[in-house]
Order: sequence, then C-alpha cells, then structure tokens
Amino acid sequence: MTGVFICRCGGNISGTVKCEEVKDAVKDMEGVKTTQVTDFLCSKPGLQLIRNAIKNRKLDRVVVACCSPHMHEKMFQNVIEEEGVNRYQMVHVNLREHCSWIHDKGATEKAVSLVKGGVKRAQALEPLQTREIEVNRDVMVVGGGVAGITAALQLSEAGFNVNLVERNSSIGGRMAQLSKTFPTLDCSPCILSPRMAEVENTPKITLYTNSEVQELSGGPGNFRVKVKVRARGVDADKCLKCGRCSQVCPTEVPSEYEEGMYPRKAIYLPFPQAVPSSYIVDFEHCIGCQACVDACPVKAVNLEDQDREIEVDVGSIVVATGFDLIDEAHLKSYRPDHPQVINAMQVERLIENELTEGKVLTTPSGGRVKSLAYILCAGSRDPHRGVSYCSSVCCPYTVKQAILLKKFLPYLKIYVYYTDMRMTGRGFEDFYREAREKDIIFIHGKPGNLTPLPEGGVEIKVEDMDIGLFTRNVVDIAVLSSAMVPSKGTAELANRLGIALGEDLFIASKHVKLDPISTLKEGIYAAGVATGTKDIHDSVIDARAAASHVTNFLGEGKLKLSPFKPVHVGECDHCGLCVEACNRNAVKLEEQGPVIELVSCNGCGACVAACEKGGLMLPNYTKKALLGEVEGLLEDKEDEVAVVGFFDDNISYTAADNAGTARLHYPTNMKIVRTTTTAILDKDLILRTFALGADGVMVSEVEESHEAELAHRLVDDVKKMLSERGVEPERVMFQPMVLPIFKVLPKFITDFTDKVKALGMIPDDKRRSLLS
Ligand code: FAD
Repeated sequence: MTGVFICRCGGNISGTVKCEEVKDAVKDMEGVKTTQVTDFLCSKPGLQLIRNAIKNRKLDRVVVACCSPHMHEKMFQNVIEEEGVNRYQMVHVNLREHCSWIHDKGATEKAVSLVKGGVKRAQALEPLQTREIEVNRDVMVVGGGVAGITAALQLSEAGFNVNLVERNSSIGGRMAQLSKTFPTLDCSPCILSPRMAEVENTPKITLYTNSEVQELSGGPGNFRVKVKVRARGVDADKCLKCGRCSQVCPTEVPSEYEEGMYPRKAIYLPFPQAVPSSYIVDFEHCIGCQACVDACPVKAVNLEDQDREIEVDVGSIVVATGFDLIDEAHLKSYRPDHPQVINAMQVERLIENELTEGKVLTTPSGGRVKSLAYILCAGSRDPHRGVSYCSSVCCPYTVKQAILLKKFLPYLKIYVYYTDMRMTGRGFEDFYREAREKDIIFIHGKPGNLTPLPEGGVEIKVEDMDIGLFTRNVVDIAVLSSAMVPSKGTAELANRLGIALGEDLFIASKHVKLDPISTLKEGIYAAGVATGTKDIHDSVIDARAAASHVTNFLGEGKLKLSPFKPVHVGECDHCGLCVEACNRNAVKLEEQGPVIELVSCNGCGACVAACEKGGLMLPNYTKKALLGEVEGLLEDKEDEVAVVGFFDDNISYTAADNAGTARLHYPTNMKIVRTTTTAILDKDLILRTFALGADGVMVSEVEESHEAELAHRLVDDVKKMLSERGVEPERVMFQPMVLPIFKVLPKFITDFTDKVKALGMIPDDKRRSLLS
C-alpha cells in the first residue's frame, strides 16, 4: 500500500506546479492508499503527516515528491523506518530542481508524470536490509599544510592511527612560508612549528613526505591506497642536521620554499623547522659526486635510495591539498617575468629573510626600493585573465604585508590598487583602518597592465574610480596579489579517489551549505583551501570538522553497508563477462557462480548488465523498477515527443540538480530517471524504454569513467539496433558529464530534445518492432 506525499515547499514547488492537480491525477493509481499535499514535508508537522499516514493507513511504501533526494532522502528514510516501513521501499521524486524551478508552462503535467513514475517504481521495490561490516579505523590525510596537520593531530588525539601523505619534502604547506599572519600579526612559523613537531613526535601519526597517492581501491571503511614514496636519499632517523653534506655539495638551484628567490644545494634542509627534520637529496639536480656521502658523519646519505610503492589500508580519507598561485602565463600583461615585478608569496619570504634581519629592500640594480605598489585581483575575479572567483585572502594579506613593510621601512611609499577591498573577517576592518592611518595609499582601480621602463621603475596607469581621473605612477617594485588556484595535480588526485571537482576546479562538497566537508564519496572528506580559497582560521575550522566527520564515520568500528550490491540469482555458465565488466576486481567466479566482494563493489551494476543470462540482479535497480518508472513517466503521453534521461546518481543527476538550483530551463519533454550508475542499463532496457513510448533516450554518466566507457559502448550498440529496425539512431545519445559544466546541461538537453522533436514520434509499428 503506497502513500504519496506532495510538498508545496513554501511556494518553491507550488509557485509553478498545481500540487492539488498532481494529487488528483495520482490518487486513484493502483495501490495508492493515500495522497496528501502539505507545505513543508521536511518540517516536523510534514514528517508527522507521513508518520500518521503510515500508522493509520498501514502503508508499506512511500513516495515523497519534494526537493532533490540529495537534500533530504536519508531523513525521510529514517522517518519511515522509525514507523516500521522498510527504508528502501521509498521513492523520492524531485519536483523542485527537476521540475518547478526549471519549467513554467507544463510544469504541472510534468510533475504528474514524475510522481506517476515514482509510484510505479515504488511498487517494484523490495524490502532490503543493510549489513554491517567491520571497518578499518586507520585514516589517511593527504596534504600536510595547516589543514592536514590539524586534522591529523585531532584524529590521533581521538585514538586513530593516521597516515599523513605530503607531496613536498616537509609538511607545513603555505603557512610555513608566511612571515606573520593577519589580522593579529602572529609569527607564522612560531605558531605552526610546534604543531609540525607534534606530528613528528606523535607515534600514532606515520608521515610519508615526498609522497603521492597513486591509486585507490576498496570502498568506504576499507580503502586500500597505493602511495608512491619518492627516494629521500637521507635516512631521516639518522640525520643530525649538521649540514656538512650541504656545505660540500657543488650544485646550487633556486629553493622552492624561498619561492625561487634564494638558492639551495642539491642536498638540503627544506627550511629550518622542516618536518621530518632531515636533509634530503634533490635527485633531479644531484650530479652523483658522492661528496655528501663522504661528508656525512653518521652515514645517513644514500644516493642509491630508490622510489618505492606502498599500500596503506584505511577506513577514511581527508583531502587537504591546498592551493598554488595562478600560473604566471595568465598574467603576462603584468610582466611577471620582469625582476621588478614579484608576487605576494615572495614578499612573505623577503620580510622573513631580509627585513626582520634588519636589511633593506633593493632593486635589481642595487638601489634602495623607495616605492612599491600592490596589484590586487591579479588573475582573480577575471575570467578572461585567470579565474572568475575572489581569492578571498588577498585583500587582508596585502594589508598585512603593507603594514609590515611600513614598520620595517617607514620611508617606503606603498600604493595598493584594488577592485574592492573585501575585509570580511573578524577584526579585519580595524586592521584595514590601521593601514590607512599608516599612510598606505589605497587607489580604487585595477590596472590592465604594467610597463617596466627602460630607465628603471614600473609604470602603472589606471583610472581612479573614486575621483574619475586617469592616474600615472612609477614605482620601484610592483607586487602581484595573485589568484589562488587548486594545487597542481588536484584534478588527477580527485580522479584517483573518485571524488568530484566543482566549477572552480576545487574539490566539490557534497552540499555547499549543509555538508561542506563531505565529498561526493562516502568516507572521503576535504578541508582547507582544497575546497575553495580561505584563510588559516577557516582552514583550521574545516580540518577540525573533517576530523569529527571521520570520527563519526569510523567511530564504532562498524559500517552499515549499502544493500545495493549485486546478488547472484540465476544461471551461470562461467562465461566471465561479469568479471570483465567490473573495474574494481569485486567479482570473482567460483564454482557456484559469481561471488561479489561487498566492500570493493560500488554497486555500479556493470556486472548485472553484462550477464547475458540475467543471472545477476541489483536489488531495487531491477528492470522491473526502472521500467516501472518509465511506464509511469510516459503513461499520459499524448501528442508530444517524450525523452527519457537515464542519469547516474552521483554526477549527472547532481548536475541536473545544480541546473535546477540555478533556474536554468530546458524542455518539459525530458524526464530524468535516477540510476545508481548507467552501467546498470543494457540494450534490452533501452529498447523497452522506446517501446513504452519514449522517442528519445539520453544516457548521461560521469566523463572519463569506466561507467562512461560502458555507456558509450551501450549507446553505440543501441544505435545499431535501432538502425536495423528502421528507427533513426540519433534518437539515443550518450552525454558525458562533469559537474563544472552543469550550466550547459540544459543546452545539451534542449539540443537533443529539439533533434528528437524534428524526428517526431516513433510510429507505432516501428515501436512494436523494437521488441522483436
Ligand atoms: P596549503 O597551505 O596549500 O597546504 C597544502 C599542502 O598539501 C601542501 O603542503 C602541499 O604540498 C600538499 N599537497 C598538495 N597536493 C598534494 C598531493 N596531491 N599529495 C600530497 N600532498 C599534496 N592566511 C591567513 O590566515 N593569514 C595570513 O596572513 C595569510 N597570508 C597569506 C599570504 C599569501 C601571499 C597567500 C597566498 C596566502 C595567505 N594566507 C593567509 C592563506 C593561507 O596560506 C591558507 O589559508 C592556508 O595555507 C591554507 O592551508 P591548507 O592546509 O588548506 O593548504
């Protein structure tokens, strides 16, 4: 007995969808015992409505028609479970993001078909049980900046063993390169170094520096991570940090830690407070002369040291990979290649190395620097020359640097060219006021370019927006407050971990407001600048939140396992197609047939679709359930073409949600069916979708994935089959998807729908032939 609950969502749905009409259209469907409309289904009274109906009407299935399932599905499932209905006998119909927010005309009719689809799908659902598995209580933190360090320490304090993987030769990240921190002007190394030392001295933390994640297998609670540990060339446990190796090394290269401004040797200590507190060999530049080997009094240097690959088993992962400054190639008009144009990170090192040592700044020709200008938003808020977002910390760190420079060099004339001064943190506005009182000149205007002059100095021409006049200035040094971008390799890492990126290419949160620390993959969390630009304060808050999420996730040492794992239900002729279809090695063929390794299996359904004998089944993603939904969606089809979209739940469905949130319209002809992944689809299912009345089918799956490969192949096969039966192959298409392009998804849908409209409806005789 099914109960249908339709939400008005305070006008968000009822603004365009006539909810009472939807109710009337579905209330007499077979098996529907009650249909109710309410204002906020997710509120306490809304939930009580569901509770009462379950009790009074003896419901065993529930359809909620409201916002995206990605918002509140779990909450509704918990409620029905508390009332004795199996949580998996519920269908969550998306009337908001996939209907009311994107349609005006025809929204009610589409809502009716979506709810009818939901009811039919609900009726094909079986009660399922979640199983519990033991989880590995070890954790991996990737990235050893202030966010990664904070997460690792908090987790170790909570009793977890932590594997901290850092790409560089030392942990510390960008904070270790800063001089002082805004707005309090604490000494950055002084507040970070004790925490770095604590990492080194905490037995529960195993540190892998010079290391990167190569591969992930297994599943949430039981991940296996392959890590490449590059050769260090020095035994960190033996190294005395005496520096004799470095003294005799003949090779000098610019130090990364010093932003290329000062040299280091090919065997070097990354910086004085580095952790591990040990020298390291830069094998790229080492000439193998052995002088360091001979000079080391404790035989710690080993130039034969080799890279190695290790495997680490963990239950959960925190990604804290931070940022890089934007590639200077984007900022050519600012002449970043010129010696009188530097970036703000270099100023941090100048303050630390020169000014606190009592030195003065000099120009490349040796003269004293008397004037200096900051160019804010260099590459930020500028999609044509960088990134469209605000890097959020440039205004405060520029104010900080200006105040520090003025303190050390009171004679210095400092200009700050800004678009808007954004000083939104606690205490930041006072800090800005202090700068203005210190005779630092703020000019409201962003120069388009900088011109180094032959006689020396850098020319800046700009319109001062406050006075409406063009101004010209020549300074000794120009400083670019450059945009912050995701650290190099973030996309590759995300791909390896199977987590998504946002439009800005930082790691995507599960929900920007309600679940900002979770990624789209269970058990993997992200903290710090890895999820978007922020300062140290906010990075630390993120890191502590990520540690708390891990604690919740692994806390009891047991994990509820999704019941959406393939089950062997029929014949098996040991053809091995199921094993081949699985890219996670989760299917093993044994005498009795396929055996699924439940933790490695991600429930994509590829093995189910591959089995030509129908011997495998993915509970509740059966053909009966999916085609049941299609039947409901198309039940009221009249004289308009109908397009069915099979969208993978993770990325494509989320992209459609995002398009809905952005109110981007597309034709009502498109009705989206949520699949676990599109790997569950097979040729028969798509042909049956056409036979049920679809005139077009779009299969959308996350780009460059195993599932996308399968979907691509499937669509090609279906095209051939359609052609053979005299039906236009263009009626089926594969749409690869990544979240950042959600804004163009409506265009893809509109173009496809237009194409199907031009082809018209499939004639009945041809439709019938599709099942032969
Ligand atoms: P990061 O500091 O970038 O650390 C990330 C770490 O991850 C690095 O160690 C990196 O090597 C490592 N990593 C990256 N990719 C991988 C990978 N694939 N595998 C393994 N490891 C990886 N904020 C303030 O609050 N106050 C200030 O005064 C201030 N001044 C600033 C001045 C400048 C010029 C700039 C650019 C920023 C400033 N900030 C300041 C911002 C501050 O630097 C950041 O908020 C902070 O560093 C974020 O820490 P994080 O750990 O998220 O990232």
